[in-house]
Amino acid sequence: MTKATAKAPWVVHVNCNSCNGCDIEFLACLTPMYDAERFGVLHIGTPKHADIMVVTGSVNNRNARVLRNLYEQMPSPKVVVAMGVCPATGGIFADGYNVIGGAEKVVPVDVFVPGCPPRPEAMLDGILEGAKILAGKRQNSVTVKPVRRIKIVRPAAPAADPAAAAAAPAPVKEEAK
Ligand code: SF4
Repeated sequence: MTKATAKAPWVVHVNCNSCNGCDIEFLACLTPMYDAERFGVLHIGTPKHADIMVVTGSVNNRNARVLRNLYEQMPSPKVVVAMGVCPATGGIFADGYNVIGGAEKVVPVDVFVPGCPPRPEAMLDGILEGAKILAGKRQNSVTVKPVRRIKIVRPAAPAADPAAAAAAPAPVKEEAK
């Protein structure tokens, strides 16, 4: 179960403040041309069922809270893949008056895919790398229950009492007929 779902991750896409270049390339990944589903990657519309968050665009004062909110709605363990230069450093928007910078300022990023925009092949590679990290996180989060120790209580042996043994009636011997 764990391995199967890590190999077939569900991905939610969050566009923070991109020029839409990365988003178009990401959409290309979902078309039959690049066919992300052949790797088991399923694009879904809710963070509540997602294993991997794909972030495009830079983080600014308005979308930082939204990004954090969406990330917190994802079940753990989870992975964040930053697509392109913008979610890595802020990219060409870095000098904007309201731009905070890369996505890592708000959420922990596991994989950075370089490019402006990255090619769909690179994006797929980044998502599959994220799936491997997800599998590792799942293995590490499996809690091993401690072995339950059973305490064996033995009844105490009766104390040797010579007086009681002498007072005990002698065993009856049957006479031979
Ligand atoms: S990395 Fe380049 S293509 Fe992607 S959102 Fe930023 S500016 Fe646009």
